[in-house]
Amino acid sequence: MPHIDSYYAKTLVSSTSFPTLSNNIEADVCVVGGGLAGLTTARELLRHGKSVVLLEGQKIGWGASGRNGGFVSDGYAQGILNLEKKLGVDHAKALFDISREGTKYVRDNIEGFASKGQDPQYHWLNVVRHDDGENLKASIEKLANTYGADYTFWPTEKVREQLRSQRYFQGLEDRSAFHIHPLNYCVALADKIHTEGGQIFENSEARALHKHQTHWEVQTANGHVKAAKIVLCGSAYLSDLSPKLESAVLPVATYVVVTKKMKSKLADAITFKGCISDNRRAGDYYRLIEDSDRLLWGGRITTQKSEPNALAQLLKGDIEAIYPQLAGLEIEKSWSGLMGYCVHKMPLLREIEPGCWTATATGGHGLNTTAAIGIVAAEAVAEKSDRYKLFEPFKAQWGGGPIGRLATQFAYWGMQLQDKWDER
Ligand SMILES: Cc1cc2nc3c(=O)[nH]c(=O)nc-3n(C[C@H](O)[C@H](O)[C@H](O)COP(=O)(O)OP(=O)(O)OC[C@H]3O[C@@H](n4cnc5c(N)ncnc54)[C@H](O)[C@@H]3O)c2cc1C
Repeated sequence: MPHIDSYYAKTLVSSTSFPTLSNNIEADVCVVGGGLAGLTTARELLRHGKSVVLLEGQKIGWGASGRNGGFVSDGYAQGILNLEKKLGVDHAKALFDISREGTKYVRDNIEGFASKGQDPQYHWLNVVRHDDGENLKASIEKLANTYGADYTFWPTEKVREQLRSQRYFQGLEDRSAFHIHPLNYCVALADKIHTEGGQIFENSEARALHKHQTHWEVQTANGHVKAAKIVLCGSAYLSDLSPKLESAVLPVATYVVVTKKMKSKLADAITFKGCISDNRRAGDYYRLIEDSDRLLWGGRITTQKSEPNALAQLLKGDIEAIYPQLAGLEIEKSWSGLMGYCVHKMPLLREIEPGCWTATATGGHGLNTTAAIGIVAAEAVAEKSDRYKLFEPFKAQWGGGPIGRLATQFAYWGMQLQDKWDER
């Protein structure tokens, strides 16, 4: 299946494609899923001297990795202060440091071999939608002192100079963050794996996994891969392959639009060039692209997998509610994608059966986290470190099936109501 019709697919700089698996082959490790988790794991395994086959059911970057907002920043979908409460400060700090390694990994690649089709813009401004400066200052101080986070406080006047909206109050500027073209990054990573000797197959969905005494066999429609170890990285798109994994990973949808060109209009609304978001539980995230000529805007979350009919209109309304000066803007592209969440909102990085690993479920904070867990999963599979043990508390718990999905949807609605209440 080709990439979905998104702005990223339209501005993809490489036309690389990989063959379909059509025979029986062998490798040390078979990675299932060609999103950023699978790609990073595969690349790191090659660096540890392992032979690797990566199977992607559609196209490289076809899932969330090629459709997202492109914001790369430290941390996880679960907040670090919540992790600290659960695990203690030392464990939380070790996890935070790994997440930073993920951010640095992406940054080094984007500034190095993966620079084609990228125009990275640095820093992230996360604003509050109700007057809450004192709380924000306190958490910035805590995160800077305990975790070494490079955050600065912005008072309301400074925020509104760069984001001309009466909806916004104070802000937190994260100076380690930046934004990228995620699909170009996926493809650059795949090209790199290919040049470094990894074998990649597209349109090669893994349909069954067979465990043998000494190895695993991964079956596709037209071939098999025999490998001593396998790593499952299918996130919310995995289906009918690993019931244990699929019952633990809840698919959550979110939406993105890109406007038509409107440089002069945008200049009256937004001048901050980095990542922008608000701190609501299901808030907006957006950024200027193409030299501030267009706006890429993401928002809303739902556990319904289908895309709303009037998706473009829905997000157009969201944009105009924040920036009335942009009224009449036109949407050029709209699309949706699925994020994989576990109930603990942390990635799953573990051996779920002997020789069968998973590195997945990075939720809405996957761009640094897929890199982080890819690095650590490859170390674990290649038996180079035991850093994966830091992720042991986050198990593949049952997510509750359809009832869990419904409960999650209700939880989101509750959070949205709470957000509205805070703003009032
Ligand atoms: C719209 C949207 C906006 C987002 N914005 C951001 C953001 O700005 N910043 C951020 O940090 N995170 C963001 N995220 C989250 C981030 O994109 C994900 O966490 C991350 O990309 C997940 O990567 P992955 O490799 O685990 O999964 P995916 O990218 O979903 O990849 C899984 C791949 O596995 C393949 N697959 C599944 N089953 C099989 C099988 N049986 N055989 C072979 N292949 C299979 C799929 O086809 C798919 O390509 C966003 C997500 C979405 C959807």
